[in-house]
Amino acid sequence: MNLFCPKCGTTEGKFINGFCEKCYLQDHEIISMPKELELQKCPVCGKVKVFGKWEKPKPENIKKFIEAKAKVKEILEEKKEVFLSMREDGNFNVRVKVTGKIGSERIVVEDSAVLKFAKENCNSCNRIAGGYYEATIQVRWKKPENAKKRSRVLREINSALSMQKSTDSLAQIIKIEEKKNGFDARIGSNNAARLAVSRLKKKFGKKAVSSSTLVGLTRDGRKRMRFTYCFRF
Ligand SMILES: [Zn+2]
Ligand SMILES: [Zn+2]
Repeated sequence: MNLFCPKCGTTEGKFINGFCEKCYLQDHEIISMPKELELQKCPVCGKVKVFGKWEKPKPENIKKFIEAKAKVKEILEEKKEVFLSMREDGNFNVRVKVTGKIGSERIVVEDSAVLKFAKENCNSCNRIAGGYYEATIQVRWKKPENAKKRSRVLREINSALSMQKSTDSLAQIIKIEEKKNGFDARIGSNNAARLAVSRLKKKFGKKAVSSSTLVGLTRDGRKRMRFTYCFRF
């Protein structure tokens, strides 16, 4: 028996549920996705908000977000592939290709969209802008300040912090305050500050005097402490 398409009359090609592939796909939206997708991007650190979490803008993360936006119907054994290409305006052209089966026929459908970035400060950058910090490294000189030594100390602090920066946006010096016999370096994250402290201990063979003060409560009622590490050189 020869199949023919009741819509266009063709007898050629694949048939899906009694129609030719072309007519069937015209009348059935197998893949649907908004023409314009939007991701929040922090203008300060460049992280993007994927499923409510701020992350580095890796292609895998962005592709997962797009995959979730591309809804697929009717198709079995589906496989989604996402292709990204950057446009001149910094946005991305997105192409989603879905392969799978309808009935016994293997089919391929595609859809495209534009991915745009909307500016929004991430939580960490917001906190930093609001003056948030968790720790202070106090550096005090026993003798008048030596510019070389000061920059060496700062370099060690910064290089310890920079190793944490990719996973912890708060791993940075927020502010340096000049003091009579030295300076205070305010650091966003206490975990990162502790790594900088152990690095200074190792590099200069000095111990820090640690202390902490209660600065308030977190929203869920835990104590919020601020930590101070004092080095005397
Ligand atoms: Zn047809
Ligand atoms: Zn940020």
